[in-house]
Amino acid sequence: MIKVGITGGIGSGKSTVCSVFALLGIPVYSSDAAAKNVLEETEVIRQIAAIAGDVLTEDGRIDRKKLADVVFKDKQKLEQLNSIVHPAVARHFETWCAAYKNARYVLKEAAILFESGAYKQVEKIITVTAPKTLKIKRILQRDRISEQQVEERMVNQMNDEEKIKRSDYTVLNDEQELVIPQILQIHTHLLKLAGAN
Ligand code: ATP
Repeated sequence: MIKVGITGGIGSGKSTVCSVFALLGIPVYSSDAAAKNVLEETEVIRQIAAIAGDVLTEDGRIDRKKLADVVFKDKQKLEQLNSIVHPAVARHFETWCAAYKNARYVLKEAAILFESGAYKQVEKIITVTAPKTLKIKRILQRDRISEQQVEERMVNQMNDEEKIKRSDYTVLNDEQELVIPQILQIHTHLLKLAGAN
């Protein structure tokens, strides 16, 4: 089984592309969903409160909106948060993979695959890319955040050129190029590689 990472900046369309792979029968692991689950763990909540201050709800859970407001403005706090969350997600991914050991390949979706170090856990990497203006437009339509908040999140992410350079495959999701043929080409290539293993 080949472990494949799929990444792309905020609004690039990674989740949308992943849903096509899922339709092709490929198991998709969401690092985002895993990170959210990790935030429910008591020990993790304690560690986060220690670094980020008042980010808890009245019933003692993490208020993700408050947490995002704190860490996306403070690089050091973001790094500290990552050093709590990323190792927990990495362990969870390994356990998840064991359940799919008969799959030809699996996808690990992560917005910050490179920045988090998660790229070390995968053998092949796909980057989904789109023009910056289109990414911003999509996020403004999808989420209730300001353009400035989108920009703040973007500066914490590696730029697309660097991601593409470090990837084995690229999907251009610019609403001009057809996306499904690009995905099918990657899928076929990965199946071939898996067959050769
Ligand atoms: P994030 O990192 O913020 O989760 P993402 O890279 O996973 O973003 P998606 O959630 O897949 O991005 O896409 C962002 C928004 O853009 C969604 O509302 C999605 O429906 C829309 N979108 C993505 N690709 C396309 C496309 N090719 N055509 C039209 N809309 C698209």
